[in-house]
Amino acid sequence: MTAPLIGVLALQGDVPEHLRALREAGAGAVPVRRPEELDGIDGLVIPGGESTTLWRLSVAFDVFEPARKLIASGLPAFGSCAGMIMLADRVADGVPGQQTFGGIDMTVRRNAFGRQVDSFEADIALAGGGDAPLRAVFIRAPAVERAGPDVAVLGTERRTGRIVAVRQGHLLATAFHPELTPDRRVHELFVQMVSAGQGRPRARAAEPGQAAGAGARREAPREPGQRETFEQAR
Ligand code: GLN
Repeated sequence: MTAPLIGVLALQGDVPEHLRALREAGAGAVPVRRPEELDGIDGLVIPGGESTTLWRLSVAFDVFEPARKLIASGLPAFGSCAGMIMLADRVADGVPGQQTFGGIDMTVRRNAFGRQVDSFEADIALAGGGDAPLRAVFIRAPAVERAGPDVAVLGTERRTGRIVAVRQGHLLATAFHPELTPDRRVHELFVQMVSAGQGRPRARAAEPGQAAGAGARREAPREPGQRETFEQAR
C-alpha cells in the first residue's frame, strides 16, 4: 500500500512539527492553506495554536466550509490542542459566534486547566497503547467536558482525571501536543486510521452549496457505548 498523503492545516501553529511527526510515522505530509490544497489529501491534521484564530483565518482563507464538509463526509482528521477544539461539536468558554469544523460529539472547554497551570507536562495512560505512559505536553490546553456515547476515551490526565484524548470513528483529538515529543504513538495511530480509509471514493472539496462526496467515506455507525482502544484501532 502506498503511504497516505496527509495535509496539515497551515494557517497558524506548530505546522513543521506535525509535518515531521507524520513523516516519521510513515506518511507523506504537505501543508494546506488554500481550499484547492484539500483536494487529493487522505487525511487532515489541525495543529495547536488558538482556536479563535484558526476559525477566523480558515474563514478568511476560504478553507472553513470545504474542510468542514470534507470532515463531515468522512475525511480522517486529527486535531491537537486548538485542533481538538476545532473538531468539537460544542465549545465551552468560546468567544461569541466561535465556530468549529465539528464532527466529534463532545463539549470541549477552552483553557480547562486554568491559569496557574498554563503549561505543564504529564504522563498519560493511553487506552490499549501499551504499558509505557505517554509524556504529554499541555499548553493552555482544553479538556473534554462531556463526550457522547460514540466517543472513545483514549486518555485521561491522571492528576485531574480530565479526558484529554478521544476518537470518534475517523476523527482523533488530543488536548496535548504529541508533535512536540519524540513518542510517535499518536501520529502512528492517525496514519493507520488514514491508511484504513484509503481506497474508498475520495472526497473532494465541494463547490459552494454542494455536499462534498456526501456520505462516500462515512463509516458504519458504531453501537452506542462501544469503546475503542488503541489496539482495536490498529
Ligand atoms: N487555548 C487555546 C485555544 O483556545 C489552545 C492552546 C493551544 O493550542 N496550545 O484555542
